[in-house]
This record gives sequence, C-alpha cells and structure tokens, in this order.
Amino acid sequence: MALTVAAAQQQILSANTCVCEAQTVPLRDALNRVCAVDVKSDLDVPPADNSAMDGFAVCAAQVTEVPCNVPVSQRIPAGTAPAPLETGTAARIFTGGEMPAAADAVIIQENCSWDDEQTVTLNKQPRAGDNVRPRGQDIHRGAVVAQQGQVLSSVDLSLLASVGVAEVAVYRRLRVAIFSTGDELVEPGQPLAAGQIYNSNRTALGAMCAVLGYEVVDCGIVEDTLESTKAALEVAAASADVVISSGGVSVGEEDHVRPAVQALGSLDLWKVQMKPGKPVAWGRIGNCAFLGLPGNPVSSVVVFQLLARPLLAALQGQAWQSPQALPIEAGFDKPEVSREEYIRARLQLDDSGRLRAQSFKNASSGVMSSLAWADGLIRQPIGQAITKGKAVEYLPMRGGVL
Ligand code: AMP
Ligand code: MG
Repeated sequence: MALTVAAAQQQILSANTCVCEAQTVPLRDALNRVCAVDVKSDLDVPPADNSAMDGFAVCAAQVTEVPCNVPVSQRIPAGTAPAPLETGTAARIFTGGEMPAAADAVIIQENCSWDDEQTVTLNKQPRAGDNVRPRGQDIHRGAVVAQQGQVLSSVDLSLLASVGVAEVAVYRRLRVAIFSTGDELVEPGQPLAAGQIYNSNRTALGAMCAVLGYEVVDCGIVEDTLESTKAALEVAAASADVVISSGGVSVGEEDHVRPAVQALGSLDLWKVQMKPGKPVAWGRIGNCAFLGLPGNPVSSVVVFQLLARPLLAALQGQAWQSPQALPIEAGFDKPEVSREEYIRARLQLDDSGRLRAQSFKNASSGVMSSLAWADGLIRQPIGQAITKGKAVEYLPMRGGVL
C-alpha cells in the first residue's frame, strides 16, 4: 500500500492505544515518565501575598509624602507569620516574607534609610502592589499542573513539587524489543572478517529508545533465515509490548522478516512515500505490535523518528504531536521530489549573519556521518523544490531524536 508519511502516522495512531498500566511513583522517579492522570493543585502558589524584595512593607495610601519617618512595627523574615500592619507604621520585610494584612506595597531597602531598628525614612512614594508577589500569581487552586499523556520534565516535576505533590501516577515504561537482522553484522568489539560490517542500528535504536524513556529488551543479531527470524520474533514478542526490527524487510531472497511475521501474526508492507525510508513492515504478533525498519542505518533512524515515534507514544499512553517545524531559510537549491524527503540538515550562520539550514554533502542512506553531523531534518514535501534563501520546514533534533 502506498501511503504518505502523514497518512501512515494517522493509521498508526488510530490503530494503537496505551498498553501500559499506571503506577504511582515518588517525584524523583517520575522524570521523563508519562503522566497517567490530570493532576490539579489543591492550593494557590504562592499561598499568600509575599515580598519580592528586601525592604519595608507599608500601606501605600498612608504614605502621603516622601521623605517621611515612620516607626518600624515588626520584622518579617521569610518563613514567619506576620501580625497585621499597625496603622502609620512600616514592617521590615525580606524576600519571600509574607505580607502583613493591611500592607499592600514594599519599598525596596535601597529607597529607605534607617539608623536603628525602631524607625525608617521612606524616600520613595510607593504604589499599591509594588514589589509584592500576589497570592496565586503562579498557580491557582484547581488548576491542572500536569496533564495525562504529558512527558514529565525536570520543570514539570518542580511545578508538582511546588503544589505539594510528593508522588504522581505515571504509566509503566513501555518495553521495546529490538533486534537487527543480517548475516553481515558483527558487534563492535569483535574482529571484522571479509564481507562483514559492524552492527550500528542496534546502538542507534537502543539509544533512541533510552533517550525517549522506554525500557529496551535487546534481542541482538538474528541470522538471515526464516527459522531464526521466527524464533527471534517469538522471544521478542513474549518479552515486550512492541518489537522493532531492522533490515530484512525487502522482498529479496535474504529478507525473512515479512514471511516470519506473517507466519506468527499479521503484517502489512507499506510503501511509505518518503526518502530515506521505504519499505516499512508493520503488523502484530499476538498482543504485541511490530514495526520492521529498513536496514540502511540512516533509513532506520529516520523511519524510527517518523513512524516508530507515534507508535511508541500511542502504546506508552503519551500524547503525540508531529514535531514542530520551524521556517528557516534554505542555504541550498534542490529540485522537486516525488517522495517526501527528509534531508539531514544543520543550522549555520552565513557570512552576513543570516541563519540558514544547510544540507549534508552526501545524501546516501548508508552515510551515518550525515546524521551525526545534522542537528535537524528538513522536510521537503512532494512536488516542491527547495530554493536558496526561501523558507523550508526545519525539524530540530535533540539527543539525536526529533
Ligand atoms: P537490508 O534492509 O537488510 O537489505 O539492509 C540494507 C543495508 O543496510 C545493507 O547494506 C545492510 O548491510 C545494512 N544494514 C542492515 N542492518 C544493519 C545494521 N544493523 N547496522 C548497520 N548496517 C546495516
Ligand atoms: Mg539484510
């Protein structure tokens, strides 16, 4: 079946839902995990008006002229509960100190002078609200502070901590089994004989899964025979929620992934209209989802980014959105294409200081150094040419993933 990338992504998303149960974990174990519920705040943050600066808290309307001398009626460091402000006085207050009732402004200490702790000279006319952080300015009680499906970052966790949440329900980490097919493959660290190459896809796929927070079940290298491929698939499907393989999905004599999946479950072979990329095999073995990536290292990484990402996100219970493309000027020309192309690209400043997206000199799908060089991909839609100086859709990568 011939499909556009967007249509393939839509099919994947509509055919898969979360397979991971929720579990409650302390915040320190929730980093990069997917939130399983909407979390609402039980309180306002900050819980009371407080001072943004070191200075003197006053009632602005009572300061009718400056400079003026007023008694200092109390001292309010952060962490103490103040008494209401006595009329006609100022309160010494420090950053984070809770505003006393009846005070509505803080005059910063640089605009005050004092010789002892009893009186202060106010040298600047305050306005109500000056240097006060109002109650609830950050978060209102009842506000959603983390959403179901959201990947929890360090700052998301800090937000949860700020409303007093100590533990959060997250989905169990998705188990992703990966294996590499190919009789030519040897693991790094082993000597390389004639006709062999090192297995790089295993590392790429495992590391991308790790960056994305999935649990990897590494099933190693599988020989190019139907029996070994079936055996590997059975083991992988029994130990994971989803199996991702690389290589062996073409229709050649040495490609056994397709018939092996068909023998154990069901399979669709998609001709996704993308470059690098096709073919992509997609199916199911029992309850386990299956995605067969092409063997070419660049193709397997790019197809992982575009098709495995939505699949894994759906199974993990993670809200998935297409990566946001940035409009960036192209630094090169390229004729129109008949398949959607993902060009390995890098942002660079040209001689006149303009930000431009450049492409790698060699676009072969065997050249992994191109992806190592790139900091993003340019999406070139079908039927469109790229013109130097005109905007293209640049998709930034972080940690090697979109
Ligand atoms: P295949 O899809 O199995 O026909 O492989 C396509 C190309 O990718 C061949 O040149 C393979 O040698 C290469 N290849 C396949 N698997 C890997 C791998 N795990 N690591 C590096 N290169 C690979
Ligand atoms: Mg092969």
